[in-house]
Amino acid sequence: MDIWQEVLRLLRNELTPTAINTWFSDCEPVDLEECRLVIRTPSDFKRNIIASRFASSIKAALTDIFSCDFDLLILVGDEEYEKEGDVGSDEFPEMAGYTFENFIVGSSNKFAHAAAIAVAENPGKNYNPLFIYGNSGLGKTHLLMAIGHYIREHFPEKKISYIKGDDFTNELVKAIKEGKTADFRDKYRTADLFLVDDIQFIAGKQSTQVEFFHTFNYIYEAGHQIVITSDRPPMEMSLLDDRLRTRFEGGLMADIAPPDLETRMAIARNKATRLGLILPDDVIQYIASKITVNVRQLEGVIKRLTAYKDILNTEITKEAVDRAIEDVARKDPDIPKPESIIRETAKYYSLQPQDLKGNNRSKTTALARQVSMYLMRNLTNLSLNDIGSELGRNHTTTLSSIRKIEDLMHTDPKMSVIIRDITSNITTSS
Ligand code: ADP
Ligand code: MG
Repeated sequence: MDIWQEVLRLLRNELTPTAINTWFSDCEPVDLEECRLVIRTPSDFKRNIIASRFASSIKAALTDIFSCDFDLLILVGDEEYEKEGDVGSDEFPEMAGYTFENFIVGSSNKFAHAAAIAVAENPGKNYNPLFIYGNSGLGKTHLLMAIGHYIREHFPEKKISYIKGDDFTNELVKAIKEGKTADFRDKYRTADLFLVDDIQFIAGKQSTQVEFFHTFNYIYEAGHQIVITSDRPPMEMSLLDDRLRTRFEGGLMADIAPPDLETRMAIARNKATRLGLILPDDVIQYIASKITVNVRQLEGVIKRLTAYKDILNTEITKEAVDRAIEDVARKDPDIPKPESIIRETAKYYSLQPQDLKGNNRSKTTALARQVSMYLMRNLTNLSLNDIGSELGRNHTTTLSSIRKIEDLMHTDPKMSVIIRDITSNITTSS
């Protein structure tokens, strides 16, 4: 397999010839699946070494080659190998726990939840497509999967297709290259339930959008259900083909906002209980007051606390919570640093970071400063005090600045676009 030679070539950049020779001379490629490379090595011993020392380099090489994440399966001797996806006829990955039962409903997600239930109970009937949008980590994928679970359970004859926006592009490109576009079309167009996660990735990619438009129409006209998630509503996807925008807006749109304190507490309690961790109310409240914008982080903190409890066997205190939060914040590449928020906001307005930190009260500077505060509030876990001190402002000024931008987001459509643009600059820069 050429790919394996290519992987070895990349490995040579970091490993010595002796290492390559010792571990890989009798290792052979077996299969290259959609997202998994299967290799075979003669002994258990070698498998363990390859798995512990080289797997991450091999995966990194595959990611370099294919620009997507890969798994590695290492077989030993004549161990049998079952192709992934050979079992089951549909393309719906089991995602343990992403069910309606495990979804905590609060005012921020009530509508999206109800819409998802309605669609799951009556697929293809009233709400087609269902378009769920909201920021990262607020439960869009969870609801999408919950619909899939429900339908698999209640309508087992229905064929479910699940795809992520960026995979749609990758698969399409691959299919075109290999002259297999007909297979590609069959695979998706025959779906009874078409689940598309993170559609924003196809915006701006012309040929993908055209193909998607046809796939969409085909499924839609057959009366089959389509559910789409996105990090923003169609009207804010500036590079989205107008025909697609119209299609999306013709269905039911449901947004998910960040959960309020009460919902965050309910989620924290639920996640903890499911992990067998009983937390006192004041600790739950403390966690929920600290993690405000992202359920994924909330979950990360609870998981860490469970680990602390298992390893250290101590009571969970507020200090332990602080440590867990710090850990999550450090490990979570999604959370940008305040410096990069300030830098990117300043850049957007053709200013310097010092301008935002200083006392200049010109209209543009003041607006940029408020925008950066708003972004810090939304993209990080910083408290109002922390945000204020990044810019030499107090907590009251910070709060009113954030409110001001929130108001503008409602009254001035341009503001939302500006926030999106700067956010995307921040996330791609850091
Ligand atoms: P998104 O797709 O919007 O980025 P996810 O659906 O991946 O977010 O959610 C991130 C994590 O938070 C998942 O583990 C999910 O189970 C959990 N989560 C989000 N919202 C809720 C909720 N309302 N109740 C329970 N868990 C939730
Ligand atoms: Mg998601």
